[in-house]
Amino acid sequence: MDYDGIKNAAEIISYYKNGIVFTGAGISVESGIPPFRGDNGIWNRYNPEVLDLNFFKNYPEESWPVIKELFFEFFDRAEPNEAHRIIAEMEADELINCVVTQNIDNLHQSAGSKTVYEFHGNAQRLICLNCDYEVAAKEVDFSVLPCRCKKCNHLLKPDFIFFGEQIPQDAYINSLDAARNCDVCIIVGSTGEVYPAAMIPAEAKRNGAYIIEINPEESLFTREITDVHLQGSAVEIFKGLKNAI
Ligand code: NAD
Repeated sequence: MDYDGIKNAAEIISYYKNGIVFTGAGISVESGIPPFRGDNGIWNRYNPEVLDLNFFKNYPEESWPVIKELFFEFFDRAEPNEAHRIIAEMEADELINCVVTQNIDNLHQSAGSKTVYEFHGNAQRLICLNCDYEVAAKEVDFSVLPCRCKKCNHLLKPDFIFFGEQIPQDAYINSLDAARNCDVCIIVGSTGEVYPAAMIPAEAKRNGAYIIEINPEESLFTREITDVHLQGSAVEIFKGLKNAI
């Protein structure tokens, strides 16, 4: 482990007390949720088409069983890990202001993070494609698919972004604002391949923020904007940071 890099990053985080954390699927890998891409990625086993908005509207009976398995059976069993918890403590200790996450698994909130901008929405809610009625996933009966709205009987869709959908406006504006006003941006477990999410750390860099990246591998961010790459898993590096702060 890069102890000097961790010590250096911890000093910068403590000095500025004005950080943001930007997370991708990698932070939840140690909670047992595989990323979408790579050798163990979800898309090696499923066809991404099921999360295309037009496909979903036309063939909900094909999309819904996969969505149920992935997001309402598999995700539901996952618990926050130590990295999620240390990030929540860093917010409580006023070292960071918020989390901008690409994840839809709700694990930052479960770990205690208060200000979380969900760039791609959240799987805990479902929304009716006809009347916009919102319902919590725990109140939905998944035994009859496709899931339907109890008000108008139209199709229910999980409230996260499908391919072909816009980023939720509040999350987009708040994330950009946070990126423009931070002194430190900590990128955790993201390839940097998904746009416009990847703009957030780039925007922080453009506005002079110091970029700390936590990832066992290099990403598209590493050579472009990263100032210090802490190479390792999210849990081991956050434990190291916690000890060094
Ligand atoms: P990605 O799947 O493209 O990449 C994951 C990254 O995490 C890789 O760079 C990998 O090297 C890194 N990684 C793997 N194990 C790690 C660990 N233990 N600690 C730290 N990093 C680790 O992820 P992405 O860039 O976030 O983009 C994929 C999209 O898929 C996102 O938009 C996200 O919304 C969605 N997604 C979400 C979840 C979830 O909610 N948990 C899971 C899969 C995908």
